[in-house]
Amino acid sequence: MAHRFYDSTRWRNLRDMVIARHPLCEQCKSKGLTTIATQVDHILPIEEGGNPTDWTNLQPLCASCHSKKTRKENEPEKKIEQKITIPVTTFRRDSCTGMVGPSTVSCRFR
Ligand SMILES: [Zn+2]
Repeated sequence: MAHRFYDSTRWRNLRDMVIARHPLCEQCKSKGLTTIATQVDHILPIEEGGNPTDWTNLQPLCASCHSKKTRKENEPEKKIEQKITIPVTTFRRDSCTGMVGPSTVSCRFR
């Protein structure tokens, strides 16, 4: 969920200043790539107690790296979601040959 801070004029000005001084994506730069940064990321997210206006907590990123990082931060929640998903058991049609009783539900398709 986007933090309310991101809608503030203070943040937009700060973001513009960071990009003006550091116009290249930090993560691409560390991989030896030259990519123009279009977004400024909080290294430690505000939600996790990161300082929203501290320059040392800010890094310029390109859209691709930023979305990758955001996805990584949300991963633990997604893993929990996947765990509670009930797996759907698929029956092989030929596996019910000779089976009798309520366990032969899939035989309907034969
Ligand atoms: Zn990048």
